[in-house]
Amino acid sequence: MRGNRRAGLAHEPEGPIMRVKYRLIIFLTKFVAISTALAQSQTPQNQGAPTLSEIQAPKEQPRKDLLDALSKSEQDEITKSSVPVLLLPNIREFEKRRVVVQRIYYTAFFTDGKQSISIQGSRLTYTYQHLRAMPNAGKMQVRSAEGFITESERIWTASWKEFGAAYLLSLECADEKDSRCQSPEYVSRLTNSLVYVGGGHAKIGSQLPPISEQPKGTNDFSYNPPGQLLPGSGTGRQDDTVYAPGIRFPIEIKPAYANSQVWNPGGSNGPPGSQCDRKNYAYPWWDNFCETRPKYKTSMCPLGSGHQGQDVRPSTCEKDKHATVSATDGTVVHIGSYSVFITAPDGTQYRYLHMSSVVVSVGGSVSKGDQIGRVSNAFGSTPTTIHLHFEILQNVADLGFVHVPPYISLVKAYESLP
Ligand SMILES: [Zn+2]
Repeated sequence: MRGNRRAGLAHEPEGPIMRVKYRLIIFLTKFVAISTALAQSQTPQNQGAPTLSEIQAPKEQPRKDLLDALSKSEQDEITKSSVPVLLLPNIREFEKRRVVVQRIYYTAFFTDGKQSISIQGSRLTYTYQHLRAMPNAGKMQVRSAEGFITESERIWTASWKEFGAAYLLSLECADEKDSRCQSPEYVSRLTNSLVYVGGGHAKIGSQLPPISEQPKGTNDFSYNPPGQLLPGSGTGRQDDTVYAPGIRFPIEIKPAYANSQVWNPGGSNGPPGSQCDRKNYAYPWWDNFCETRPKYKTSMCPLGSGHQGQDVRPSTCEKDKHATVSATDGTVVHIGSYSVFITAPDGTQYRYLHMSSVVVSVGGSVSKGDQIGRVSNAFGSTPTTIHLHFEILQNVADLGFVHVPPYISLVKAYESLP
């Protein structure tokens, strides 16, 4: 009898006080569940939740002597930066220097024509539940903390956390044979040499940059699912997260074709044919994030290394014709011999590679949809195929700045084109 009664009343405990306590617990549990669901509905399941980190201002005295090499307005901005500003100790050796301070990040760029170095420190972190427990395969000591150093398209990037902010330092060599870009040693040395020059004390409130809305488009095209790479070209990442919601598709005019440059006709591992083969200029799209590149280490790829962006061909196989446009509003933070980096107001960095006729300059602002350059094949002294290589670097909780998969963000952006 007892057993039956219990089953019938959903395991309510006996005695009036116990029952009241029990019902209160059930009520509270439901309340918490509903509140959590409501909170999560602010950030759609497949997008990140942004937070601003607290800064522990550096205790050391800033190296103010270095600031003399910068303009008066840059010096003022550094003092007011909400992120502690780290710079190279030898900035006077670079003919071009530029520091930009925005509300939640700063960037610095130095070049002597042979090497281009950019540094960024940011306070905004995106939390993705599915990335919480992910091991960071490349973890190593970077400065005083854990971080990693990785390579993508011969551009080296160091990523680490310090003072509560996330930093990245990138190095690009104009000559692909430059020994400084052959191994992680030099970029590691640069990163360890950074010195604190000011900032980190300003309060900025808790307001987050708005997430831009994706317009409704009319585009009708077909694409393979994320993580499905061209057979034999590697192991993809099955991830339908929109890491960059609301971006503008980075090639001005459609159609455009996302696919592999290496495993398709005209590529070094592809079937016979030319890069202008019709097959390269047809739907469906193919994801090529994590395509086999043993040298480009990243824990975002199932095998621990891989292509860290998405390759996209413009509508026709013509060089220097099709315009590349900025995916977001932002600041131009780095221009190398074949790259342009633009950082959005949330600190997410977008990288556009292999262009010609670049029309922006470091330190300048761009609006979403502004022209940056033309889709080309620039890649040091050995040209690549005619395509745009597009990367997204985002500060992700537990990982710091990492290359995140751009494929689904690009699908959404393409679908929203008029
Ligand atoms: Zn690529």
